[in-house]
Amino acid sequence: MDIRFDGKRALVTGAGKGIGYGIAKALAAGGAETIALSRTQADLDRLNAESPDIRTVCVDLADWAATRKAVEELGPIHLLVNNAAVLNYTKFMEIEEAEIKNTFDINVHAVVNVSQVVAQGMIARGKGGAIVNLSSIAGRIVVKNAPSYTASKGAIEMLTKVMTEELGPHQIRINNVNPTGVMTAMGKKLWPDRVASEPMMRRTPQGKFAEVKDVVHAVMFLLSDQSDMINGASLFVDGGVTAV
Ligand code: NDP
Repeated sequence: MDIRFDGKRALVTGAGKGIGYGIAKALAAGGAETIALSRTQADLDRLNAESPDIRTVCVDLADWAATRKAVEELGPIHLLVNNAAVLNYTKFMEIEEAEIKNTFDINVHAVVNVSQVVAQGMIARGKGGAIVNLSSIAGRIVVKNAPSYTASKGAIEMLTKVMTEELGPHQIRINNVNPTGVMTAMGKKLWPDRVASEPMMRRTPQGKFAEVKDVVHAVMFLLSDQSDMINGASLFVDGGVTAV
């Protein structure tokens, strides 16, 4: 399947490293005018050095007002990937106020904030659009020792459906991509070595974690017109772990 995004403008949050970095590069390679948003300027400089066509925006998504202003200044966006998220390694009884607030500010509230601005433009132009939210297997099953994160991904699952219901009449599609572990900075926090990975490997029918490219392919499909009637779905990229 040859997926192209020529003539489209795309925004990817959390594109400084990991999965978001891969998504931004794939969108640019597919012809989209791509904007990469993240909070560490050095990461964005690295991305820009590799892909000079990618425009970068440095803002902290936890700051609602600054984020809104930054996204409003971008102009029309046809494709949005809400990818940025944070994960704390704790137990439920150890969660502190700052952790749960920060997790929901970035993993959930920022998705509302950025999507509202982008969808407003899509509605005004009347030509639809596509949004992909990076959820997780944590949107369906408990990821041990990451309770705030897991709860936030549960929230994303229903947020996507809420958005689908309200924005569908405007031909705006919103879908989730739900990866299993990917060995980015975030993945390595939860599964730093073979011993930590072992229970997950035993539980996963395919017996392996995903790679960035596996997630990127799912995102590209859901952003493209090839998935025109897929809306409000959660596409699990998980080697079958949530199926068994
Ligand atoms: P990484 O931690 O590797 O990268 C996250 C990116 O988001 C970084 O560039 C980070 O910037 C940015 N970011 C985080 N907080 C903010 C913020 N407040 N404002 C702006 N940018 C921010 O994560 P992954 O690439 O692994 O994860 C990407 C998505 O995939 C997330 O939604 C995650 O939940 C999901 N996912 C990941 C899995 C995995 O195992 N890796 C499994 C399942 C889902 P900085 O480094 O500067 O903070």
